[in-house]
Amino acid sequence: MDTRAAELASKLAEEHALALFEYGYLAARLGDAELRDELASLARAVREPIYGHGVFIRGLIEFSSFCTNDCLYCGLRASNAACERYRLEPEQILACTEQGYSLGFRTFVLQSGEDPQYSDERLCAIVSAIKGAHPDCAVTLSVGERTRESYRLLREAGVDRYLLRHETADPAHYARLHPASMSWDRRMRCLYDLRDLGYAVGCGFMVGSPYQTPAALARDLAFIQEFRPEMCGIGPFVPHHATPFADRPSGTLEQTLGLLSIIRLIHPFVLLPATTALATIDPCGRELGMEAGANVAMPNLSPAGVRTRYALYDGKACTGDEAAECRRDLDRSLESFGYRVVIDRGDPRGVTRGQA
Ligand code: SAH
Ligand code: SF4
Repeated sequence: MDTRAAELASKLAEEHALALFEYGYLAARLGDAELRDELASLARAVREPIYGHGVFIRGLIEFSSFCTNDCLYCGLRASNAACERYRLEPEQILACTEQGYSLGFRTFVLQSGEDPQYSDERLCAIVSAIKGAHPDCAVTLSVGERTRESYRLLREAGVDRYLLRHETADPAHYARLHPASMSWDRRMRCLYDLRDLGYAVGCGFMVGSPYQTPAALARDLAFIQEFRPEMCGIGPFVPHHATPFADRPSGTLEQTLGLLSIIRLIHPFVLLPATTALATIDPCGRELGMEAGANVAMPNLSPAGVRTRYALYDGKACTGDEAAECRRDLDRSLESFGYRVVIDRGDPRGVTRGQA
């Protein structure tokens, strides 16, 4: 590890902030195992007094694979005619939450493509039903870009948190990953609307997406520093065979782990999942993610019959298992690395906003 990188790692651990060019310097050096180890050990040290070795779990329910958007990287993109589309009925979604509740889940993440069939009215009714049945649970939505009014109604209906990855903080990079009909400004606007409306907000990006450079990653990290999200979802880009990026390489385990550590150091309190994409590119991805500073896992609660059809990318981990099996495997594998699942809503802690 060069001296400059070591200095920047300690500065980040002490001050929780770096300048854009400093993030660029670190992002370009994540191939260095010694630097990654240093970042991971600093990240664990800041996480330890806050979360210890506890891992929060969120039950992911992928309720519709229909999408009107055409993100170039995603298997659910509208132009993928071969994608098998499905929608879960409200009763099926509720059944997933019932099963999840009995397995110890206290947060449900409802995710889908951008599917206009789920009007505000329909989504609000589903959320109210879940909150009615489980008032002790948090509901997170991850259904893409909607109007401020829509976000307002959903918040009123009881949605607690919202995941909307910013995908990249570099507008030129965004334009290479999305069709011209999609706008970086609009996506960013959505994140600020969600924040204004009182949601706990999660942003995030793919690691190793096509055309990503250390300079683009530096902008992601600077954005995360400034925006202070309550949650941050990052995982490797993984190609999907029926997209324009079919032949692109996946993001790497190493780079993802290094970035997880950096994000933990920027925001010690952030809720940071080790994602399914990370578990997809490495059988120990989830556990190594925790070792790098993550503290959240999001096992799949979708009915086993539809799992393979929610194919954002190829080879998605855990598509064959029943929810209960997934949960048992998760417990076992986390335990072998010294972590334990916490039965709790896992609300954001600490002051993550408005700090210096
Ligand atoms: N439609 C919603 C939520 C579902 S997509 C939305 O786009 O916000 C959820 C996330 O999956 C996206 O934000 C993107 O970062 C990720 N994703 C999509 N395609 C991917 C791929 N090929 N590899 C890795 N992650 C991908
Ligand atoms: Fe649709 Fe989300 Fe996939 Fe984009 S990333 S195509 S919005 S499901």
